[in-house]
Amino acid sequence: MNGYLQLQGITKQFGDTLAVDNLDLSVPQGCIYGMIGPNGAGKTTTIRMIMNILVPDSGKVIFNDKATDADFKNIVGYLPEERGLYKKMTLREVILYLGQLKEVPGKEIEKRIEPWLERMNLGEYKNQKVEALSKGMQQKLQFITTLIHDPEIIILDELFSGLDPINIELIKNVILDLKKQGRTILFSTHVMEQAEKLCDYICMINRGKKVLDGSLKEVKDNYGKNSIHLEIDGDGAFLNSLPGVDQVTNFTNYFELALSDVSRSNEILRAIAEKVTVNRFERISPSLYNIFIQVAGADAVNPPEKGAADV
Ligand code: ATP
Repeated sequence: MNGYLQLQGITKQFGDTLAVDNLDLSVPQGCIYGMIGPNGAGKTTTIRMIMNILVPDSGKVIFNDKATDADFKNIVGYLPEERGLYKKMTLREVILYLGQLKEVPGKEIEKRIEPWLERMNLGEYKNQKVEALSKGMQQKLQFITTLIHDPEIIILDELFSGLDPINIELIKNVILDLKKQGRTILFSTHVMEQAEKLCDYICMINRGKKVLDGSLKEVKDNYGKNSIHLEIDGDGAFLNSLPGVDQVTNFTNYFELALSDVSRSNEILRAIAEKVTVNRFERISPSLYNIFIQVAGADAVNPPEKGAADV
């Protein structure tokens, strides 16, 4: 794989905790790359090593065939997991200030401020102080400051946390546009459904180690179409006891059934339709959530998050 950004054997230990363990990762140029894994998997530590906020105990971060250096900060847009902006500044001032830190002339930043605020539905707050914004609005503002210098590569740590479905959609569309413009986007999330809907490539991390990576298509194809996406009206409690159904995962608006024998899918459909109205019954590859459970074990993840399917 052509690695635009490459991590070669990076490791970071905090006391007794091996947060990141000999991790290799290769992010191709121009793609959306999702780093997924449960809380505490090592995603933030990995991103901080890419950003040179933390120095790896061993291993290397290579960008465009060179070790990252001081110039990297001007070509990367980084959204940290802990958000925070200067609360007493106005939105305009904060964008201008942070843009200039990336060595873009103030006049150029000024031209970009209004279109970005409009796009994020924050235009009317332009001259208000940051503290007047809700948490979700501050997050959108921070997203703007991440992108204002038009970075080549964008690294977003837990991008969607704290956003409502409308704003998730807004940000998702910006990310898809950035990809169309040839930018490379690496983001981390513990909500696997988000990665599934957005990424070209994924890397699954558990306890500091990579457990799986590749293009989303390759990863999914490897698992075959042995699952069912099911949408019904009514209570799905009975699904667990259907013969031929190995496992039932309850997502927000649908169920995913893992079948022990796909040749029984017609029979399973009939049994379900006898009890409830079936709105959708489709054979699919397993979701990333269930693939993760297969490779890392059920105790590695929390149940699917409610609302995650809205992405
Ligand atoms: P989350 O989704 O919860 O943000 P994560 O995948 O980003 O999780 P990290 O924040 O990288 O995970 O943490 C990985 C492990 O390293 C955890 O066990 C965490 O407690 C530990 N850790 C992270 N930073 C430090 C630190 N500065 N000192 C000590 N331990 C740390």
